[in-house]
Amino acid sequence: PKLSPLHLMEYENEYGAHNYHPLPVVLEKGEGVFLWDVEGKKYYDFLSAYSAVNQGHCHPKIINTLIEQSKKLTLTSRAFYNNKLGIFEKYITDYFGYEKVLPMNTGAEAVETAIKLCRKWGYESKGIKENEAQIVVCENNFHGRTTTIISFSSDTEASTHYGPFTPGFIKIPYNNVQALEKIINENSNITGFLVEPIQGEAGAYVPDDGYLKACYDICKSHSVLFIGDEIQTGIARTGKLLACDYEDIKPDILILGKALSGGTYPISVVLSNKEIMNVIKPGQHGSTFGGNPMAAAIGIASLQVIQEENLAKNAYDMGLIFRNKMKTFCENSKIAKQIRGKGLLNALIINNSSYKELAWEICLKLKDRGLLAKPTHTNIIRFAPPLTITEKQIKECLEIIKLTIREF
Ligand code: PLP
Repeated sequence: PKLSPLHLMEYENEYGAHNYHPLPVVLEKGEGVFLWDVEGKKYYDFLSAYSAVNQGHCHPKIINTLIEQSKKLTLTSRAFYNNKLGIFEKYITDYFGYEKVLPMNTGAEAVETAIKLCRKWGYESKGIKENEAQIVVCENNFHGRTTTIISFSSDTEASTHYGPFTPGFIKIPYNNVQALEKIINENSNITGFLVEPIQGEAGAYVPDDGYLKACYDICKSHSVLFIGDEIQTGIARTGKLLACDYEDIKPDILILGKALSGGTYPISVVLSNKEIMNVIKPGQHGSTFGGNPMAAAIGIASLQVIQEENLAKNAYDMGLIFRNKMKTFCENSKIAKQIRGKGLLNALIINNSSYKELAWEICLKLKDRGLLAKPTHTNIIRFAPPLTITEKQIKECLEIIKLTIREF
């Protein structure tokens, strides 16, 4: 029997863990920038599954690759070679300009991998004493949900009662070059600096121009590995292939995930040069699914789409239009305080001083008007559509957003 949307939501509530608080919409289809619910209502997707669907929903080239590969070979494990992985590894290292790649599945796994790689390099190449390595991270970071990663989260919601935590991390304020310089000068056990070029989950928080380059230079001069977590910002989301490209820096360790599959399959990678990657030897790290032939084939197709459809440039151009119009709107609104972001990773700050649930209520109204977005940190609404969105579509969405907010 076909279940009503209410029933479907009830099932999730009844049988699923309550680790999310979804907007009350039940989706069943996606194509390009659009989603449809079970009753056939059409929506603009302004979340893109947290920036995983940069290429648009169910991109035909990616889906065809997925179908074709799934008929042939899905998983061998890394106990054997397969005919897709090497080709993917060559393709992705050329694409991003690195010598080596280590494939995993989810973003958090890739961050864990980068942490392990960085520590091992610290002991074996930099000569740090066993168990003394430290990695510097930033306040308000988001790098995933594993026990080690939440050990250095600022978000008590993410960490309360999950301890004991993993030691070896030093938290400094984001967008503060002096803080990094000070800690690196004081502590010779620092082996890496893990940073998001734009803090995505913190609400598209963009650091000052020059911040990343200055941090990178400090790391370079102290043999500290600069680890760029571009899981959310990378793969054209911010208007360049990587957000680090804005400052012409190349992380020593680059972490990617999400849009590596256009939202069709969990794929993540860690990229670095040989000197770093070669510290991991057979048996010292791995994953049953990491580097499987499905992921390898899908990864290539997804990265090809980014280039073939010029999605970085489109994200850049559409982002400018979006922020310019929203800036003007914010100047005349009591509710919309500020728009910030880069490319199509944007966030609107809502003045919720008189009503705490305002951003949530706005998102409910946006949904009624056919646009799906989700609040973060109660007063921030993220606006991140697929990068295939056209100028006509983004202008239509701007009207929906403005009209909706004016109603409050
Ligand atoms: N790092 C960043 C910057 C992210 O934005 C995310 C997810 O939002 C992650 C890591 C974790 O990725 P995953 O949810 O695939 O584990």
